[in-house]
Amino acid sequence: MTADTAITSAAGVTAAHRIEHQPEHTPQPNADFAMPPGWIHRLPADDLDLAVLLVNSMDLLEDPPDRLTSVHWYRDALHAAGHGDIAEGLTEADLPSLLELRALLRLVFSAATLEEAVEIVNPMLVRGGAVPQLVVDDDGRPVLQVAPQATGLEALSARLPAAAAGLIAESELRRLGTCAGTPCECAFVDRSRSGSRRFCSDWCNDRAAAAAYRARRKAGQEPATPNYEQPRTSPAAWA
Ligand SMILES: [Zn+2]
Repeated sequence: MTADTAITSAAGVTAAHRIEHQPEHTPQPNADFAMPPGWIHRLPADDLDLAVLLVNSMDLLEDPPDRLTSVHWYRDALHAAGHGDIAEGLTEADLPSLLELRALLRLVFSAATLEEAVEIVNPMLVRGGAVPQLVVDDDGRPVLQVAPQATGLEALSARLPAAAAGLIAESELRRLGTCAGTPCECAFVDRSRSGSRRFCSDWCNDRAAAAAYRARRKAGQEPATPNYEQPRTSPAAWA
């Protein structure tokens, strides 16, 4: 072996060693991530908001509609929602399970009956290990939390179904819904006092109002005053 090949070989071993022992590459959170309006109600977001964000990663008004072709979008959304701890535990290997969690949560948000929701949520709670633990909070008070130490998929699999189950126990299905703004099917949590929310966002609400106005006008029931016809930004601008 010449001196040159010995140096090359040593460098190769070092490089291989480094690659083998490097932690999985985790990209920096996207600082430009824009939270779609109306999907979370506070910062940091609560677990119901995180469920809404996950379900709405499939958004029929987006092009392409599915933003969960990798975990990047949801990881960015978690960071923007004040849950970098959960985001950092999420890896690409979690994508199939994350998609399954999204599909099941969507069924919960769109369940037609309480029995249907219960049938979906209970196995999710068991599989996700959603066992409440007593945790002493910053004010020294004992609070019940699900998966308090977990991050990534483990945290999401336990906490999101638990949050949905808690809301169902409190208000049956009245506070969980999917958008009535065709073709949107985004999920929402109805936190309004009246409990009459029908749309995922003001944008969908306005779209539906404009469509209803046009229909009434066509039927001759409205004067030709285009008061709903305001220009709006494309929902693609939300992303
Ligand atoms: Zn909508």
